[in-house]
Amino acid sequence: MNANLANKIHPKRLNQLNYYETVLDYIQAICDKAGVLPCELDAAAFDFEDLGLGNGTFRSTTDSGFANPHGQITIRNTGTPGTDHNQYVYQVACSGCGHVYGANGSDIFERKCPNCQGGRTGLVL
Ligand SMILES: [Zn+2]
Repeated sequence: MNANLANKIHPKRLNQLNYYETVLDYIQAICDKAGVLPCELDAAAFDFEDLGLGNGTFRSTTDSGFANPHGQITIRNTGTPGTDHNQYVYQVACSGCGHVYGANGSDIFERKCPNCQGGRTGLVL
């Protein structure tokens, strides 16, 4: 995205709520103008990364923007202690249906959407 947009997005700052919401507003405005849904842009951006065309910014499952094989995307660390040992609750979004829920950091890599993929009920955000 940073290669193609006028405003640069800093992935490391996306775990700050104010910054995340600012970026979200920006992306939604762009999508609105382009006539695509934000989740479509998201899917295209991750296909781009998967093809090795991006800069490989997202490496860890707990990095904002990470997408697991089920299309579950890490949004941010909520800072709330999770239900697993030494874990935090991460806000995760489903790229399929847009459902947003909480998951332990250790579960993100294999998480399925509770709403459309029969995954476990999400943690409280
Ligand atoms: Zn879903």
